[in-house]
Amino acid sequence: MKIHQIGGLGPDSNIYLIIDEIITLIDAGTGQNFKNVKHNLSKFNLKPSDVGLLINTHCHFDHTGGDWDFVAAGCEVAIHEFEAGLLRDGEQTITMAGSFGRRLEPVEVARELREGDRVKLGELTLQVVHTPGHTQGSISLYEHKRGILFSGDTVFCDGVGRTDLPTSNAKALARSLRKLSALDVESLYPGHGPFVERGGHRCILEAIGLVS
Ligand SMILES: [Zn+2]
Ligand SMILES: [Zn+2]
Repeated sequence: MKIHQIGGLGPDSNIYLIIDEIITLIDAGTGQNFKNVKHNLSKFNLKPSDVGLLINTHCHFDHTGGDWDFVAAGCEVAIHEFEAGLLRDGEQTITMAGSFGRRLEPVEVARELREGDRVKLGELTLQVVHTPGHTQGSISLYEHKRGILFSGDTVFCDGVGRTDLPTSNAKALARSLRKLSALDVESLYPGHGPFVERGGHRCILEAIGLVS
C-alpha cells in the first residue's frame, strides 16, 4: 500500500492516490487539470479507468469537480450521505461551483458514507469519521494501525477550514477538531497544502488553539 499526492494544481484540492487492491482516490480536484492528474497517474502505470473508488471528503467543487471524468472512466464515487444528493443533482451553490466560475456536472454516487463506516481497500481499511463544520457532510478518513488521517478541509497542517460558507458551522468545526484530537494521528493528509508523515496529531492540537 502506497499513498501519493497527485493533485493540488491551481484551485484544485490535493488528490491522494492510494495504491492498494482497490486503486483509490481521495478527492478529485476541480477537473480543469484532469490532463495533469492523468499524467501523474501514468507515472504509476495507471489510467483513470484503473481507479476503482473515489472518496470525496466533502461536496466543494475544488474537491468534486473532477469526479465526472473518473465516473466516465468507470470509477465509483463515495461521499457522506448528507452531500450525496448535491453531487447527484449537480447542485451549484452549496458546492461553490459558481465561485470557481464553473458548473458541477451531476454524477452518480455509488456509496453514501456515514459515521463509523469502514471502507476496505485491501491492506488499508479506512474508517469514516463525520467531521462537520467546514460543511455539514465533511468527513475525515482514519486508519488506526498506521495512524493515517485524510482530513479534507476540516484541518490542514497549518490551519483550519473556513466556516463562512453554506452549511458551515464554527461550533461544529471546533467539536470535530476535538473529536479528531482523540485519534492517534501520525500522518496527516489534508485537502490543501502540505501533508506530514510524522506529528500529525500536533497539527490538530494547534488547530484547536486557532478556533478556541
Ligand atoms: Zn477545498
Ligand atoms: Zn471545502
